[in-house]
Amino acid sequence: MRHLIASHQNRPSDDPIFSVHKEATQRKERGESIVDASIGVLLDDDGELSILPTAARAVREVPGIEWATYAPIAGTPEFLGAVVDDVLGGEPELKAAAVAVATPGGSGAIRHAIANFLERGEAALTTSWFWSPYRTICDESDRGLETFSMFDAAGRLDVAALDAALSRQLAAQGRALVIVNDPAHNPTGYSMTESEWASLAACLGAHAARRPVTLLVDCAYFLYGAPGRHPRAFVRHLRPLLGRAVVLFAWSASKSFTHYGLRVGALIACVGDAGDRARVAAALSYSSRGTWSNCNHGGLSAITRLLLDPQMKAAVDAERDALRTVLSSRVAAFNDLAKGRGLRYPRYEGGFFVTIFIDGVEGLDGPHGRADAMKSHGVFVVPQVATGGTGGALRVALCAVASRDVPRLVDALASPA
Ligand code: PLP
Repeated sequence: MRHLIASHQNRPSDDPIFSVHKEATQRKERGESIVDASIGVLLDDDGELSILPTAARAVREVPGIEWATYAPIAGTPEFLGAVVDDVLGGEPELKAAAVAVATPGGSGAIRHAIANFLERGEAALTTSWFWSPYRTICDESDRGLETFSMFDAAGRLDVAALDAALSRQLAAQGRALVIVNDPAHNPTGYSMTESEWASLAACLGAHAARRPVTLLVDCAYFLYGAPGRHPRAFVRHLRPLLGRAVVLFAWSASKSFTHYGLRVGALIACVGDAGDRARVAAALSYSSRGTWSNCNHGGLSAITRLLLDPQMKAAVDAERDALRTVLSSRVAAFNDLAKGRGLRYPRYEGGFFVTIFIDGVEGLDGPHGRADAMKSHGVFVVPQVATGGTGGALRVALCAVASRDVPRLVDALASPA
């Protein structure tokens, strides 16, 4: 007798990234020298998890009563106000149109966006390289995921491909939810320029004049983008969409405050019309009740304090800047060492990951074959295949690689299979 429903009979039990990391950890525990560039957490040069000390202190200092009690279903008003300010503080018009709901990490925010801005059976639209849980989240809520080619021949965001895909999708399903992960895209490491953001917004705005278009900006890594570029500079390009498209932000404390396990995040929705805005707020809160109920109250309190208390905020920002400097030096070393080694990858200025493109899709020259060959030299990366099998790639989590291991990593990437 089959009790598990037919459509869930063949769910993969292991997340592919976690299984690569598990194998690397097991070999390390057996005493082997391993470079594990598989997992998206920031490690210091001794291989220890980088934890912002002030964030850890904020968590420790949350009173017991706040861990014990339920948070309001949508999240505490202080937390929601602080998160909206964090993203939209410099954009009064977007801020005035914003409502938000607390979620368990950015993952929860992505889940709520997919479940509320697409009907069952409809598909979200994202770049051809994407964080694989997007598909899992869509699948889990009976939605699909379609993609458009991410890069044009010049290596820039392929806005023409987005435009064509949106036209097709709007004709087929009458609405669209476009998911863009930027700055510091996972897995490619790409950050769009301001002119790419402007073109993206113009493209969405043109379609939004005819059909409901929602943009979800997954900004999980926005504080780790290119040094010297303001992490919120992109937001102003979304202002013209107000009143035409709905603009959502999936905000996450996981990377910004190095507390991945605290499970704190939020979905922010900028909705021009006040009536629609109230309906969106109600639908998001209803979704929370119908899924996880409410979020970790203590976690919301700690993150609120880090966002609002001027001294805590200054301290945590300075500590994060130091982490970003470590990451930037790894990125610079990677770019230097990769020169002349025949590695193809997008413009890489910062962020947790970079992706090396390879031509093969299957066999020894494909991503799985290449990743296995690298494993035999003790170097672990995550193999990827582009949607439609049009190319392969290796995702490299530089965030987890000590500076001294970058040369070994580049050598392994550059060696033939
Ligand atoms: N978006 C991207 C692209 C990510 O890589 C991650 C985490 O790895 C998230 C969102 C969400 O992370 P969390 O649910 O821990 O906030």
